[in-house]
Amino acid sequence: MKKEVYDIIVCGAGPAGAEFARYVTENSKYSVLVLDRTDKIGYPAKSTAGTTKEFLDEFKIPKSVYVSKLNSAVIQGPNETSTHPYDGYVLDFAKFKKFLVNEAIKNGAKIIIKADVTKPIIENNKITGVEYTKNGKIYSTYGRIIVDATGPSAVLAKELGLVKFTSNEHLVGIEYEMNNLKLEQQDAMIFKFDRNLAPGGYSWIFSTGKNKARVGICWVSEFFKAERGKGSQIEHLNHWIKTDNRLKSGKILETHGGDAFYELVKQKSTDNFLAIGDSASCIHPTTGEGIRPGLYSSMFAAKTAIEALDRKDTSASQLKKYDKKWNETIGKNRKLILFATKKLYELSNKQYDKFVANTGKLDSETVKRFMNYQTTLKDALKLYPFFS
Ligand SMILES: Cc1cc2nc3c(=O)[nH]c(=O)nc-3n(C[C@H](O)[C@H](O)[C@H](O)COP(=O)(O)OP(=O)(O)OC[C@H]3O[C@@H](n4cnc5c(N)ncnc54)[C@H](O)[C@@H]3O)c2cc1C
Repeated sequence: MKKEVYDIIVCGAGPAGAEFARYVTENSKYSVLVLDRTDKIGYPAKSTAGTTKEFLDEFKIPKSVYVSKLNSAVIQGPNETSTHPYDGYVLDFAKFKKFLVNEAIKNGAKIIIKADVTKPIIENNKITGVEYTKNGKIYSTYGRIIVDATGPSAVLAKELGLVKFTSNEHLVGIEYEMNNLKLEQQDAMIFKFDRNLAPGGYSWIFSTGKNKARVGICWVSEFFKAERGKGSQIEHLNHWIKTDNRLKSGKILETHGGDAFYELVKQKSTDNFLAIGDSASCIHPTTGEGIRPGLYSSMFAAKTAIEALDRKDTSASQLKKYDKKWNETIGKNRKLILFATKKLYELSNKQYDKFVANTGKLDSETVKRFMNYQTTLKDALKLYPFFS
């Protein structure tokens, strides 16, 4: 029997994979197969899902997936606070993903759920397909271009040696969806840096309506293990809730959790292969923002894939145009941002207050560069107490 070969196989229907499939099917006639291991598209809704209005407009994301409007970003240390204007929204993460997947399906993409991708199929040293299991059976499927969008599992990118994903660059987070809170700011995304609450990370409150919010903490798994003693992440989160007047009265409606790696990925593509979103570590290490950079990586990679298929050339040298575009834009100052983030997680509480006070003195252009992943060494020197 002649084997079926798709033009593109996308592994993972999270925001990055779904947007990649949507973009390709909207802008070309190429056949797209999407595989995801979940049994229900959109779930689990692991993300706080705060993002900017500008980004949502650019990617034409409808208001029906928004939960709340955000007007400010608040940065807090143990004692200091700085407040900045922020034009953004919190999304219903599951609805957002379902919207992208449904668009791709409407445009002709085929999706298989409960399909757990286990390994790449390699022929003549190049990936030509993937193996997946569904209902206990093993299947093989083939494509001209294979896309890893499996998020932190990076099941193909790891196997192809493009990412390592070690525990000292592993961000782990947990959050509660809450109501009945006593919030001073009803339309804010609040980041709090305090070693007593989240050693080696930070905590947050993202407003989802009047006295409602997503409240969580995340940290790098290897940092400050000793300082945390036996306290698990959920114990730390519960401790914060018990001791913060804004949160004490809150009722927990749901729990979300997940992880990401913030590695410096030198190469996100190779022969017949592209890695996007969290499987290629596109997440912003300081803020944990992964949706916006993930979708930009999808768009850059999808444009590259269409051009490669048009030229009938899916070699590494053709597909590395995606890496080039990433490195010229969002990835431009990545090394510095990674270095500065690692240092940030090591600060003492006194230094956190200094850091927060410094963020309050930043001019709007510097904030804009930070938001757009363009932080320069000069900007970092203004922000970080350990540099001065
Ligand atoms: C607690 C928390 C809060 C966050 N808050 C924000 C926020 O406020 N704003 C923001 O921008 N970002 C936030 N993020 C980050 C953001 O959610 C991620 O960066 C984003 O979801 C990455 O998208 P992705 O598509 O690359 O990967 P994922 O969302 O991880 O999607 C991967 C998909 O691949 C599938 N998959 C995995 N392995 C396999 C396999 N072997 N076979 C088949 N399918 C597979 C999964 O089922 C999933 O559908 C947060 C993350 C966490 C954990």
